[in-house]
Amino acid sequence: MLLTFFAGALTIILILLFPQRLFANKIKYKEFTVCSNDKIDDNIKIVLDKAMDLVQRSELYDPGYKYNLILCHNTLYNKIDDRLLGIGPSARPRLNNVIVKVRIDPQRNLAFPTFRKKCEIDLSYLIAHEMIHCLQAKKYGIMKFNPFRHPEFWKLEGYPEYISRQTELSGQDYSLTSEIDRYVNLERKATDMWILEEKSGCEAPNYYYKGRLMMEYLMNIKNLSYDQILKDSVSEATIFEEMIKWNDSTKKSSVVSPSVQQGK
Ligand SMILES: [Zn+2]
Repeated sequence: MLLTFFAGALTIILILLFPQRLFANKIKYKEFTVCSNDKIDDNIKIVLDKAMDLVQRSELYDPGYKYNLILCHNTLYNKIDDRLLGIGPSARPRLNNVIVKVRIDPQRNLAFPTFRKKCEIDLSYLIAHEMIHCLQAKKYGIMKFNPFRHPEFWKLEGYPEYISRQTELSGQDYSLTSEIDRYVNLERKATDMWILEEKSGCEAPNYYYKGRLMMEYLMNIKNLSYDQILKDSVSEATIFEEMIKWNDSTKKSSVVSPSVQQGK
């Protein structure tokens, strides 16, 4: 009886960790094996190229690393995953598997989360975010990065957010200081830890947005690497406070600068 139980548990663990064989359709494309029970839309290749473009900007990028993209919306695998690990995330990393749990439209490069409310997000962003989680575990070890044991949330989620949103973050119109103002405002209005993050109406726990801003501050303004940030023991509250002071100081200097220019 006990043996049957252990054999059953082991089977489920193996299926969760190595899901490829469960899926009827597979295609290989560059570093990816895409698995799905539905017909795989060829547009997924463009989506994956975009995701890889983002991941290549990370210090964790590993050119030899191979990913499985598991498209498991509406499958038994997804139900088992929900039951064992809880509902909520649109996607999860597991070893080298990027598991996309929600409906997707590769042609429009979109994924459709439904948790809390229906919204849409960029599919390349979602995949790149999970790829960075795979690489965190690859570089620092599964014992340091797993669902039960990991660095503080702002370090765990802030960095994948920072990398996977690089298209927006490196855009000409982008301003870190206005984003910090936006975050502070959202946090003030929020009644719980969930805040509106996306213009398209998606919500996420506040540490995704806050962590991303703190990463931007530490990496772009203070020139730290992710490795240095992970090793640093300064508290989240201290860094956040420092970032807010920096944000305020940039406003003071921008008020001063016109008169400085006039003086020239
Ligand atoms: Zn994440």
